[in-house]
Amino acid sequence: MAIISIIAFAIITIGAFAFFFVKAKEIYRNIQLGQKEDLTDQPGKRLTNMLLIALGQKKMFRLTIPAILHLFIYVAFLITQIELIEIFIDGFTGQHRLLFHLFRDTLNSGFLTGLYTFTISFIEVLSILALLATFAFLARRNLLKIPRFLKSELNGWPKLDANIILIAEIYLVTCIFMMNGGDVAREIVATGESPYGFLISGNIVGPALSGLSLEVLNVIERIGWWGHIIGVLGFIVYLPYSKHLHIMLAFPNTYFGRLKPRGEISNMPAITKEIKMMMDPNADPYAAPADGAEAAPGKFGAKDIQDLSWKNLLDAYSCTECGRCTDACPANQTGKLLSPRKIMMDTRDRMQEVGKNIKTHGPDFIDNKQLLKDYITVEELRACTTCQACVQECPINIDPLDIIVQLRRALIMEDSNSPEEWNLMFSNIENNAAPWQFSQQDRDKWAKELTQ
Ligand code: SF4
Ligand code: SF4
Repeated sequence: MAIISIIAFAIITIGAFAFFFVKAKEIYRNIQLGQKEDLTDQPGKRLTNMLLIALGQKKMFRLTIPAILHLFIYVAFLITQIELIEIFIDGFTGQHRLLFHLFRDTLNSGFLTGLYTFTISFIEVLSILALLATFAFLARRNLLKIPRFLKSELNGWPKLDANIILIAEIYLVTCIFMMNGGDVAREIVATGESPYGFLISGNIVGPALSGLSLEVLNVIERIGWWGHIIGVLGFIVYLPYSKHLHIMLAFPNTYFGRLKPRGEISNMPAITKEIKMMMDPNADPYAAPADGAEAAPGKFGAKDIQDLSWKNLLDAYSCTECGRCTDACPANQTGKLLSPRKIMMDTRDRMQEVGKNIKTHGPDFIDNKQLLKDYITVEELRACTTCQACVQECPINIDPLDIIVQLRRALIMEDSNSPEEWNLMFSNIENNAAPWQFSQQDRDKWAKELTQ
């Protein structure tokens, strides 16, 4: 029986990790579809950002109560991995609580046995806190009418995805207490007392179950044990399809975040040069380009995901769909179509579509679709005020604005697609070096009139 159990455990464990590895490679390949961008400078500052923002959840605390609830789930997730170590050891060896018996019986170490008991007790307390947070999040998403969870981009799979993970959390916590509580109870039934001093299952769950027969308790404990590990491996398989990929990608995403001051939009060097020449009365517009001068770009802005930077694509995979960006967006607040969260979700959907096309039909396949217009509409792009509130609010430093600006650049500079009012402004800038309909020599005229 034990050998069948070991084989079954090995098959599902290796299968789940192999599947995840294949999917992770696909995700990496999709991110590499983007343009190159060097984001490796100032490694110390990058590391600090990652530790504060991804590990320390610093920006989450702009909304205190959700941040605390999220912290319970996050810390429980991290710490529970310790208990998994023993589950994996037991699974591959066919033993039961091998570490506990090693510490207590073989090494006879009171310290290590106490540390083991403390760790499992800590996991149990965190599991209860995570359970409370999970119920609060379920209510927040499904019962409370919180505007950012009611936007149309969350209809269908995104809402289901969020609920699936919350329900899976309840399932995993139940399995933990079935496993630990069943273990404690069967020791009480078999020997009159339990060797496990776990805080909650040792004092509450185990004693409560100890009225059941040994056979039933064995079944409860096994269901809890297998249920827990199958839940964890199922989560690993599910992760590449879910927004919960952010639990991993938040770390590289914050490390490789752009370090330029907020508010500074990435200019195109060739255009910047043109403007500088226009502003310089001594510039010779017919002068030959200097040696080493940057060549004019082949195209302006971005129309599809291959035109964006790899960091834009990593941003899209990292998005948690929390909607804090959309909540802060003045365009969205005033009823415009734009939602920065949808910009990120569209970018991810299109990237996955392109990745799937490449996998199925080869790298040269053209599906006659693109991110611009087929996913993100002109109306959405025009609504952006470039205020940066979305960038400011994102808990993991995602930059929806950069994608918007690049798409809008292509819309205007490649397709000449802009409203009449903007065209007037553009021609004024071109002719007068100012957005107004008068020459730049007349700029200070209004002040002169005041002093007359
Ligand atoms: S930069 Fe654009 S998308 Fe972002 S919050 Fe401001 S208006 Fe909204
Ligand atoms: S971009 Fe950031 S703030 Fe907006 S939904 Fe994604 S994770 Fe949340």
